[in-house]
Amino acid sequence: MHCPFCGANDTRVTDSRLVAEGDQVRRRRQCANCHERFTTYETAELIMPRVVKSDGSRESFDEAKLRAGMLRALEKRPVSAEAIEASVERIRQTLRARGDREVNAREIGEAVMKALRSLDQVAYIRFASVYRKFQDLDEFRAEIDRLSQEPTDEIAGNSSSHGAS
Ligand SMILES: [Zn+2]
Repeated sequence: MHCPFCGANDTRVTDSRLVAEGDQVRRRRQCANCHERFTTYETAELIMPRVVKSDGSRESFDEAKLRAGMLRALEKRPVSAEAIEASVERIRQTLRARGDREVNAREIGEAVMKALRSLDQVAYIRFASVYRKFQDLDEFRAEIDRLSQEPTDEIAGNSSSHGAS
């Protein structure tokens, strides 16, 4: 870590302790060059990206809202609370793992659709019909046709590789 006073890159830790109930590490450092002392705090990066809505406005990621949307689609469907929770957790981890500061609301919607698709097709159609705002019945029918033709356990988008090798 560079010294904030003189820019030297040789600083040493003189003290290290847990703070904030163990969620943070506080380190006292001293510069080997100018001997100034300073403090750094280290925390795990568990911050969810901000959500960019279609109108360009930003809001913080709302897990309760995500779950509520999924539950609405899954109402009276034979899917266990446990499976739903696992899906919510997976979506959250995926978003966090991207390491981006912002994520489009549309991408979250797509992630939810993907999750619902593997949980329950009726829930998926319910969600998709609201989310994608199907323009007319033909579009809706096309989606159902598409669904019934695809294998249900296809989750990872494996691109088919044609051609010359
Ligand atoms: Zn220094």
